Amino acid sequence: MEQIRLDGSTGEGGGQILRTGLALSMVTGQPLHMTRIRAGRPKPGLMRQHLACVQAAVAVCGGQAEGAELNSQTLVFTPGAVRAGHYRFQIATAGSCLLVLQTVLPALMLADGASRVELAGGTHNPMAPPFDFLERAFAPLVRRLGVGLELQLQRRGFFPAGGGELVAHITPAARPLAPVDVLARGPLLNGWAEALAPGLARNIAHRELETLGQRMGWTFEAGQLRQPATRQNEGPGNALIATLEYAHVTEVFCQLGERSLSAEQVAKRLADEIRAYQLSSGALGSHLADQWMLPLALAVWQSGQAASYTCSEMTPHTETNAQTIALGLPVLVQITPVARAMRVEIRPAH
Ligand code: AMP
Repeated sequence: MEQIRLDGSTGEGGGQILRTGLALSMVTGQPLHMTRIRAGRPKPGLMRQHLACVQAAVAVCGGQAEGAELNSQTLVFTPGAVRAGHYRFQIATAGSCLLVLQTVLPALMLADGASRVELAGGTHNPMAPPFDFLERAFAPLVRRLGVGLELQLQRRGFFPAGGGELVAHITPAARPLAPVDVLARGPLLNGWAEALAPGLARNIAHRELETLGQRMGWTFEAGQLRQPATRQNEGPGNALIATLEYAHVTEVFCQLGERSLSAEQVAKRLADEIRAYQLSSGALGSHLADQWMLPLALAVWQSGQAASYTCSEMTPHTETNAQTIALGLPVLVQITPVARAMRVEIRPAH
């Protein structure tokens, strides 16, 4: 059998190469041989977060993993048959629940039955998609492929304490997946922000919202600036999240508070991120662009039909994911600049 051979130092050099590799291995049945895992990061090798992804992959397909140890830079993963079912993954410290979910989602959305995946750990982590992004931006796109994907947040968990909980209900598509083009975002229907600051001084959330509101023209009175209720034991932590609902796509941007940053700086960072996206004509923002590529590539592979999307910019994550996907699936990923955006086209290799 063919093997997927990945060099983890390629391009972006982070955990995404591992997660995409595991997902590709599970859906195609090809063993994964990965070397130099996360060689581009200051602490290379498997951290707890990545080990949790490997263990989740092993559980979902009854696979075998050699080298699944902390700090290991080599992994040989042999997948078994994917089993739909009820899973619970507890991620040590505040590892990201969402990154573990994204590792097993491709396999479970192509499985032969529905799954319920419970995850415990971080829901709002640095360098990972926050829950709100998966729920409002990523999941609706996945549903357009024909997959059922519902996410329920039970409790938020912030880095470093974690303690968050969520449940994902995944119903596989009637095969094959139907690819979709997402070329334009369409007119803006609704834009709003929420500030979460459980366990922190009350004025932090208010100052963040006020500063963001001044830059975006959003007000408390119009309901565009919100302080959602937090649940017990959710803190301490801080996230400022903006949701932009366009006719064809919803984007979610998030900045996490840090000890060394003022509330005003957090808001300014978020406003800058939103502005950069709004100045481009791409349908997807930079994070959605790298994460949407794998589900769409699976749809292209299954259906034999090409599909495209535009995005605001080309990041190392997106470029690296394109290379990784092309090593595991018989698809070609072509990235070309268009007016104020980048266009990603995925087509069958033959
Ligand atoms: P890696 O750094 O290789 O572990 O990959 C991190 C992943 O998290 C990438 O898919 C990023 O696009 C994603 N990510 C990081 N920050 C955010 C964010 N604020 N919103 C959505 N996704 C994010």
